[in-house]
Amino acid sequence: MAQTKEFQAESKRLLDMMINSIYTHKEIFLRELISNASDAIDKLYFRSLTDDSVGMNKGDFAIDIVADKDTGTLKICDNGIGMTTEELENNLGVIANSGSFKFKNENSKSDDVEIIGQFGVGFYSAFMVAKRVEVRSRAFGSDKAYAWISEGVDGYTVEECDKEKPGTEIILTMKEDTENEKYSEFLSDFRLAELVKKYSDYIRYPIRMDREKTRRKPDAKDDDYSDEAYETYIENETLNSMVPLWRRNKNELKAEDYNSFYKEKYYDYNDPLKYIHSKVEGTTTYDSLLFIPSQAPFNFYSKDYEKGLQLYSSGVLIMDKCADLLPDYFSFVKGLVDSADISLNISREVLQHDYQLKLIAKSIEKTIKGELSKMLKNHREDYEKFWKAFGIQIKFGVYDNYGRDKDAVEDLIMFVSSAEKKLVTLDEYVSRMKEDQKYIYYCAGETVEKIESLPATELLRDKGYEILYLTDNVDEFAVKVLMRHGGKEFRSVTEGDLGIDSEEQKEETKKLTEDNKGLLELMKEALGDKIKEAKISDRLKSHPVCLSSAGQITLEMEKVLNQNPQNERVKADKVLEINPNHRIFEIMKSLYDTDKEKFKDYTSILYDEALLIEGLPIDDPVGFANRICSIM
Ligand code: ADP
Ligand code: MG
Repeated sequence: MAQTKEFQAESKRLLDMMINSIYTHKEIFLRELISNASDAIDKLYFRSLTDDSVGMNKGDFAIDIVADKDTGTLKICDNGIGMTTEELENNLGVIANSGSFKFKNENSKSDDVEIIGQFGVGFYSAFMVAKRVEVRSRAFGSDKAYAWISEGVDGYTVEECDKEKPGTEIILTMKEDTENEKYSEFLSDFRLAELVKKYSDYIRYPIRMDREKTRRKPDAKDDDYSDEAYETYIENETLNSMVPLWRRNKNELKAEDYNSFYKEKYYDYNDPLKYIHSKVEGTTTYDSLLFIPSQAPFNFYSKDYEKGLQLYSSGVLIMDKCADLLPDYFSFVKGLVDSADISLNISREVLQHDYQLKLIAKSIEKTIKGELSKMLKNHREDYEKFWKAFGIQIKFGVYDNYGRDKDAVEDLIMFVSSAEKKLVTLDEYVSRMKEDQKYIYYCAGETVEKIESLPATELLRDKGYEILYLTDNVDEFAVKVLMRHGGKEFRSVTEGDLGIDSEEQKEETKKLTEDNKGLLELMKEALGDKIKEAKISDRLKSHPVCLSSAGQITLEMEKVLNQNPQNERVKADKVLEINPNHRIFEIMKSLYDTDKEKFKDYTSILYDEALLIEGLPIDDPVGFANRICSIM
């Protein structure tokens, strides 16, 4: 006679909450039931180590999934330890009672057993998808089997039933499909296989299921490709790969193993540039498998890209993209972390703000940085490839968070330099600086070629100073945040004093400025608000004029910031510099004495010319053209 029992009062409310609010994804129920099956098998396996009467070897254990679309049921069977009637009542009738947690505490941790359960709620996730749950179980060592049956919050019954062998069978009668929820999808072998792969791929016992496949009929004619030539058949397939690659011994594994794992798991056609397999023990214990892709994924620099590592706990997937494990500047890293140390919240979907997780993230960051530094030192070609794919992200790292993280990535940064037009690190630049050199010179622009043609780079290069060419939009902002490297300040070649003049030269510039005070003032007057001042230049060689900037915003920044239509327009404080050693200067001097109107026109032309060279738009192209024509 079946006895109907109610859930304990609190349990009723709790169960209702459980079913409706704890989990974000209904599909998680399969993960929970499979985890329970795995725990049950672990327990019997543990027993078999000391008890010959179990009579089973590790290879005999398995979990079977049987979906039946006709009856709308899904069965999950294990040949694990099973439950007595008391255990059915205690473990399934009382919410938050975890037999597995007790087991784990009572049995000194054996390396060979890896119990997943701990909260005593996972089982009830079955009610998210099933209107009726039947648990048929026979405990190991007992000759009786019992069925626990429940249709939800109202209660459950327990009655004796037939079951030939020890173990547990969970039979879910799925809910009816509604407009929004398709419960029947959990009866599709394709969907089930996908879920097992996603959440339970590393359960250590085979998870098997019959799958329908097609093949050519043995007697089909060679040229017959019609439906007639094919037949369907059923194959019992093991769905999970069982052994997590990262748990295996490093020296058993070849590059090939890592590479194919990466390609399959992270959908890349190319081998990763680098794989990093670590087993860490100490204040935190975890295994990790990290990959640096050889190319940026197509959506990497878009808003769609989500950073993060997969997080496993005891081989079960907890989170697919745990963003907290990676700093933004390493967002390109793919891979996973497996740790039994982290504290999960009860849905095992999200983590509590966890100290362990923070420690792991710190340690991972250090590992990545260390590997990149090693690559930079020992495999320059690989590093440059890496830099071309992800350098921008690292430079954003300098600039983001108000420069808080700049120290972490400073040593990884490279720019093309004028020396050999190759990528150099900041250390390399500083080590090559001339004895008298005060600053790390840089110049920002669209391309290396365009930068090289800028008037302001000519003199410095001619004098043998190395210049860093900043060609990405983010570069100059990053350099401004860095401020200095190795004790040396960064200085744009189009900004302020370059510190290359001798005292005599400085004196001379000063004198020239005084002698031509009126001329410079008239230039400023001619251009009005367009410039902050006009001055005698000490940074020019063969060009007559150039523009430099005086304030926070440089010419290149003005360009970059104004590219984004959402930004407020910005303007650099421009300085028109004139080369006192150029013939044009002589012409301007004599015009200043003879024809002030013409002098102003020429000033306008020179200013527009300087704008054009900088790649900045001129305000009045028609006026510019007219003035040129009138001279011609
Ligand atoms: P947890 O797994 O966190 O302990 P569950 O709600 O998933 O919580 O399961 C509650 C308890 O029920 C488990 O601790 C275990 O003792 C028992 N149990 C569940 N499923 C099985 C099973 N397939 N075989 C044996 N015992 C089971
Ligand atoms: Mg469980």
